Amino acid sequence: MEVRRTVPVKLNVDSDDATLLHETVDEFLWAANHVVDHAWQGEYKTTSKAQLQEETYDEVRDQTRLHANLVQNARNKAADAVQSVVARWKQGEYAGKPHFSNPTAVYDKRCATFHDEYVSLATVDGRIEIEYVLPDADRDTPHSRYLNNDDYEVTGAELHHKDGKWFLHLRTKAEVESDTVEQATTGHRTVLGVDLNVNQLAVTSTGTFWSGDEFDHWRREYENRRASLQRCGSRHAHENIHAVGRKETGRFEMMLHRIANGIIEEAVENDCTVIAFEELTGIRDRLAGASWGHEWAFDRLYEYVEYKAELHDIDVEQVNPKNTSRRCSTCGFTHPDNREGEDFECLKCGYENHADYNAAKNIGLRYLRRNQTGADGGAPVGVRLNRGMLNANGEYDPPAGDSGQSRSPRESPTLNEANGEAVSE
Ligand SMILES: [Zn+2]
Repeated sequence: MEVRRTVPVKLNVDSDDATLLHETVDEFLWAANHVVDHAWQGEYKTTSKAQLQEETYDEVRDQTRLHANLVQNARNKAADAVQSVVARWKQGEYAGKPHFSNPTAVYDKRCATFHDEYVSLATVDGRIEIEYVLPDADRDTPHSRYLNNDDYEVTGAELHHKDGKWFLHLRTKAEVESDTVEQATTGHRTVLGVDLNVNQLAVTSTGTFWSGDEFDHWRREYENRRASLQRCGSRHAHENIHAVGRKETGRFEMMLHRIANGIIEEAVENDCTVIAFEELTGIRDRLAGASWGHEWAFDRLYEYVEYKAELHDIDVEQVNPKNTSRRCSTCGFTHPDNREGEDFECLKCGYENHADYNAAKNIGLRYLRRNQTGADGGAPVGVRLNRGMLNANGEYDPPAGDSGQSRSPRESPTLNEANGEAVSE
């Protein structure tokens, strides 16, 4: 069987190279958006990669200085995004036209050469060589496990620019012998459960929280601004309402991109191959205090996670939300009184934790059970917690090599007030 890992590596980039990388990424995004625009023309959206290639390749080559394979990768990125929108439409869900603005570019082995300590990347002006900034090779890091490991082959990478720094997310893969499948899968095919709610917009089964305070604050401000402008009633005020609306929408989208990136990071760091959400349909009716704004935000967040997950070969799925907030993730006992606001305390086994965190674990478990009853031999084996894993029977496995640790998971997350994110220890 095949095992895949993504390893982020920081790049040591001087200012000349940075200029080239920026220009390359800009043209890559232009190309991807251009292909989306093309696919979007007409009543039926074009999703065929071959057709999009035929109809856009020459123009993109003319309009950019991109390497031929970067042009193809931009087209693939665009086609994948359009395909996932169309797939969601077929399920009767809402999804808008894709637009790429995050500074990234997708490389494969035809436009990049991956060496042990540096990479050669095609840019808008020929190839450049960039050194990796690697951690100490003796330490146990993803770099030492997958990058300096001859069993793993680098198959491609995504170039990222974040907070003024350049990163390469290297995709690696290894062929694993079948007698070690169990060992390989234990660390590999795992699920990240995500609960969506009002006070905490998102909570993962690994114990990371994204607070809804910022969202609520802006939403109130927006509604106040809007109400006072509406009282004016003039044409000028009317135009202002639209301007405020656009500004707020942009702000919300930025925040949701940040959360989506965090969820993806969480999944990548924990080697999850699936991210499970509850079904979004009807979520506004299920959650106390949820508004149209929350429904919009959850739809967007899901959409962003879906796009971003594709680049890491991670599947994003929705599961039946029934009782995920009332069920005990430890013993399975389901009762409405198990939950009181944000506190979960099982009436049967006494398990106590944050209610949304308990729900995130249940969402992961539900995906796991749904897929283990099928005939799929590659069914995932566990739900990722911040330490260790839950199997389909709800039994807790401590992390590998950690057998000295107690059987009770240190799974109570701690809230980090500074940025509204809770981080596990
Ligand atoms: Zn219980």
